[in-house]
Amino acid sequence: MKVIEEIDALHRILAGLPGEASVALVPTMGNLHQGHLALMREARKRAHQVVASIFVNPIQFGPGEDFERYPRTVEADLDKLRKVGVGMVFLPSVASLYPRGPESVTRLKVPSDLADQLCGASRPGHFDGVATVVSKLFNIVQPDLAVFGEKDYQQLMVLRRMVQDLNFPVDVVAVPTEREDDGLAMSSRNGYLSESERRCAPRLFETLGICAESLRLGRKSVEEVEQWGMQLLREGGFEPEYLAVRDAVDLSMPGPDARDWIILAAGRLGTTRLIDNLRVYPDALLASERPPF
Ligand code: AMP
Repeated sequence: MKVIEEIDALHRILAGLPGEASVALVPTMGNLHQGHLALMREARKRAHQVVASIFVNPIQFGPGEDFERYPRTVEADLDKLRKVGVGMVFLPSVASLYPRGPESVTRLKVPSDLADQLCGASRPGHFDGVATVVSKLFNIVQPDLAVFGEKDYQQLMVLRRMVQDLNFPVDVVAVPTEREDDGLAMSSRNGYLSESERRCAPRLFETLGICAESLRLGRKSVEEVEQWGMQLLREGGFEPEYLAVRDAVDLSMPGPDARDWIILAAGRLGTTRLIDNLRVYPDALLASERPPF
């Protein structure tokens, strides 16, 4: 496995690949868990060469968020990537991606219908920061495809929109969320939880399941389910931020006839912010199988 820190060095290695070799990019912020490794395995199945990137991107963190304390575990990450057969790891420094400083970089502006709701409502500029760094990685690596997790569903929709709007010749592949045995979605931020918070954490996914079942049975309206879900989260020890039902294709408000609904939620346990989502009708085609917009 090649570990590459400089953009020029990465370009030289990529230029040496056979012309017909397809390249998959898997962007991460490191502190890798089984969720990330599922993306790597999917990338390996779909491309000749896998480039994993590890970069804690300062411009997607807001003031007071966890940029400084975000777990950085590069050596352990490299061991895991070696074991799943990743060929190249790109580990850029902040200075190499943002030579004039993170605040001075030219940025993408994600349209507000996607970026200003759900997670974007409490994290202004977050998705602009994500889209900007992913567009830079696309330009640097020039992959044929890129793999992302459904765990960050709104991010996946933002990146699909970016690829379409800016005509990136990159296939976006989505991978379902990997979970702990008790249902908690794997996340680097789970490591922040105290023992008692960790015991509460599975309530997030449980609540999504209860709300989805209620919608399937038609017992409550969308608005009633959203309010009830927030209450269940509060009772479960969360300080909920949102619990919302949306059309899974474009995150618009669910129309009466739409059958492909997704419930998304975010909430805090102490200082740790967790997110999760669940398709209401799992038999509906997966988002990854549908044309995005
Ligand atoms: P991050 O390192 O948190 O930026 O995540 C890097 C990629 O891994 C993103 O595409 C995430 O959606 C994906 N990811 C994170 N957690 C999971 C999970 N539990 N299951 C599947 N993919 C995940």
